[in-house]
Amino acid sequence: MGANCFELSFNGSRILLDCGTHPKKEGKESLPAFDLMNQPPDAYLISHGHIDHCGAIPVLCRRFPGVPGFATPPTRHIVDRMLHNSVVVMDMLAKERGISGYPLFDHYDVGYAMRFLSAREFGAPFNPGENTDIEATFIHAGHVLGGASILIRIPGHTLFYTGDISRTRQWLLGGCARPNKALRVNTLVIESTLGATDDDGKCSYEEETCRLGDRMRCVLERGGAVLLPSFALGRTQEMVNIVAQLQETGQIPHTPIYTVGLGRAVYEIYDKFTDYLHPDAVLRPLSHTHRLGNVWDKGLVEDLLRRPSVIIATSGMMTENTPSALVAQAMVRQSHHGIFFVGYLDPDTLGYKLLHAGPGDMLQFELDKPPVEVVLEDIGQYRFSAHASRSELVDIIRCVDPEHIIYVHGDPDALSWMRENAGNGARAFVPEIGQTVTIEA
Ligand SMILES: [Zn+2]
Ligand SMILES: [Zn+2]
Repeated sequence: MGANCFELSFNGSRILLDCGTHPKKEGKESLPAFDLMNQPPDAYLISHGHIDHCGAIPVLCRRFPGVPGFATPPTRHIVDRMLHNSVVVMDMLAKERGISGYPLFDHYDVGYAMRFLSAREFGAPFNPGENTDIEATFIHAGHVLGGASILIRIPGHTLFYTGDISRTRQWLLGGCARPNKALRVNTLVIESTLGATDDDGKCSYEEETCRLGDRMRCVLERGGAVLLPSFALGRTQEMVNIVAQLQETGQIPHTPIYTVGLGRAVYEIYDKFTDYLHPDAVLRPLSHTHRLGNVWDKGLVEDLLRRPSVIIATSGMMTENTPSALVAQAMVRQSHHGIFFVGYLDPDTLGYKLLHAGPGDMLQFELDKPPVEVVLEDIGQYRFSAHASRSELVDIIRCVDPEHIIYVHGDPDALSWMRENAGNGARAFVPEIGQTVTIEA
């Protein structure tokens, strides 16, 4: 996984697929290798609003003023919100940790970039650049609200970029659209997030919901609070509705649900675009949850933890200084609460360290504060993936049956497993940053 940004060039035309920042790098290091681009692209296309797919748009637009961008209508709104939030986070990191190069852009840059980012509907082919012979279409990818795969047709060649893709239904979102059998795809660019994860015996979304509900009930019945660290886009909205469902079916006691920060703002966008959710999905109004105020106020958090409640807070991997880390810092000093991770945890993150901590271990939740002793033992992880599992990725390749496959968006283990085992006999590529893959049409 990295700064997702792929340049597609053809007969002198150039299109960028995604324009993200690297989630584990900081400052200018987190940007795509824009220096390799000596000419402006004709356009850029954004698959969805996660920062690793859209976080560098304002830098691109400052470098190449006026370059047009396209995204689905929900994604356009989400990108706007995510980028303004990035400015706030980068300002904070510049102050707290003096990271050079931050902020990479300001609110004005975001406003400028958004003027040139247009919305295009799913399933409606469009020409992204006036001087190009390219037709692009956004196809439902599941994953998060507005998430799209991108089908590109150029004369004599068809390319399908999955973006981040999910095959199975989540509570709010349907799975990706099935590839049209009649479609002849020459080149498939496929994400590989779960390529290293064997999914034999994987629980379904419903089974995982039940397992989480049982564990939450124990905590709430003994008077504790439950923290569910969740990504702002996707998982927060899913978890609010999963918890509401568990309450309505009596699986867990009725307690207040609290949400905090960016996840609430994105929830408003889900509310605005309910037509893009699964037709059977019931999106509870945001008023179903309480707003958790200033999480830096230790008194407020300690007071909240005196009564059973469910707290859904960003960030999902519990990065230091984020709301989930600040709430956890107060929780781990007591033994009756529960902290349950509901997404992927990178081994370098505080969340991963907390999941694997034993009683008495010391962990730092705030950057400039001393570490805290972990007393809490009821810490767990549940698999609510928004990415295609390994066998689903293999199945997508079988269905699309391309002549060339480019594996992207995965750790080295995932990429190499996919390259060795997932293919259909097609030519396979795992490009390095800056590497050009040449395909003769
Ligand atoms: Zn994503
Ligand atoms: Zn991604």
